Amino acid sequence: MWTYHPELLATPVPRYTSFPTAAEFGDDVGPADMEHALARVREDEPISLYLHVPYCHEICWYCGCNTGAANRTSRVAAYVQRLGEEIDLIARRLDGRGKVARIAWGGGSPNALAPSQFDALMHRVRAAFACSEATVSVELDPRGFDWGWADCFGRNKVTRASLGVQTFAPHIQRAIGRIQPTEEIACTVGRLRAARVESINFDLMYGLPGQFAEDLDETLRIALSMRPERFAVFGYAHVPHLLPRQRRIDATRLPGAAIRFAMAQQAHRLLRGAGYDAIGFDHFAMPHDAIARAARSKALRRNFQGFTEDPSDVLIGLGASSISAFPGALLQNEKNAGRYHLRIGNGQLATARGIRRGASDRRRGAIIEALLCRNEAECTGLPDLADIRERLAPFEEYGLIAWAGTRLLLDRGALPYARSIAATFDPWRAASTTRFSSAV
Ligand code: SF4
Repeated sequence: MWTYHPELLATPVPRYTSFPTAAEFGDDVGPADMEHALARVREDEPISLYLHVPYCHEICWYCGCNTGAANRTSRVAAYVQRLGEEIDLIARRLDGRGKVARIAWGGGSPNALAPSQFDALMHRVRAAFACSEATVSVELDPRGFDWGWADCFGRNKVTRASLGVQTFAPHIQRAIGRIQPTEEIACTVGRLRAARVESINFDLMYGLPGQFAEDLDETLRIALSMRPERFAVFGYAHVPHLLPRQRRIDATRLPGAAIRFAMAQQAHRLLRGAGYDAIGFDHFAMPHDAIARAARSKALRRNFQGFTEDPSDVLIGLGASSISAFPGALLQNEKNAGRYHLRIGNGQLATARGIRRGASDRRRGAIIEALLCRNEAECTGLPDLADIRERLAPFEEYGLIAWAGTRLLLDRGALPYARSIAATFDPWRAASTTRFSSAV
């Protein structure tokens, strides 16, 4: 189905959950940019909120998220207090403008909070914003998701949940510092169903230490028996120079690039065979699920959470390190929890880094998003199109892409190369020294 061309995947590339990517963020933007962007939100414009909880009960060795141990209740309580203040701060700037279509909780693990803290923050969001019809989604750690949490989800009308599963193989769980028995995941799924969560996603990983094809096969079969509506299947990104916690992982046991490629294909084949639609290059969904419907109607989007059916052009990030996306700027809050506390405590917006997006960035961002979400893009008007076509020539020679005038079309076999193809439109990649993860 897919042919392996290692030379086309030799250069690590971004995941393009935004364009420009976070690697291009600088500190020449700040609260004034956030004020300006919020002031431009229109009366009934659909907006999405993202609430970041930078805590987990246990820290997994492979994790690339901005999170720390939730081992001091006073620290978590202080964070909840500031997050509540930031919700009010942003709502005051919007002054009733914008209609919240989506409330997404991520982290870290939102269920590192107590259910009562989650209740309180949801109450604050609902009081501060127009969000009576918003869809609520939560990323969660299945370990410790008890009936108290299930009731909390029911009360707060959470209808989507994403579970960090990664692998069911006990020997790999030990190698990545995340022990979670299969029964625990099954119980969590049962509790989510009882709480009327209608779309459950499993995050799975390939390219893990000591992982073989049969391990991945077994994990996929167990996962399929639980019938989640969605899967996201990621290649493990080993970047210990950026994430010191990954030094605990034995790099000598990581599968090589050819095996990673074969594993990506194995997951794709098995999930497609089980009736799931392929969504972009690493998501899968049951055909009735909202994201599969969005893909069929060419409405699929890409944002910081990956592929999404969320159509909003405005995403407001709340909490330390969260990123807000506006048509004209990408703006990130203080990553450092102490400085975040200080800023919000002083009644200031917490924006610390980011990038303003000009017309050229928006145009290239739209092309990259179209390539990743719809496998095709109209590329007319780009001043460097001739150079881009030259960079894409090797992909064309292998039949992975074709041009219809200025329209670029990706072949079905180009899926594992989609990010590398998208990267040819990214002028920052040539100059950047930032090291990304493997292209597959
Ligand atoms: S539970 Fe999730 S967010 Fe927390 S450390 Fe593990 S992988 Fe990272």
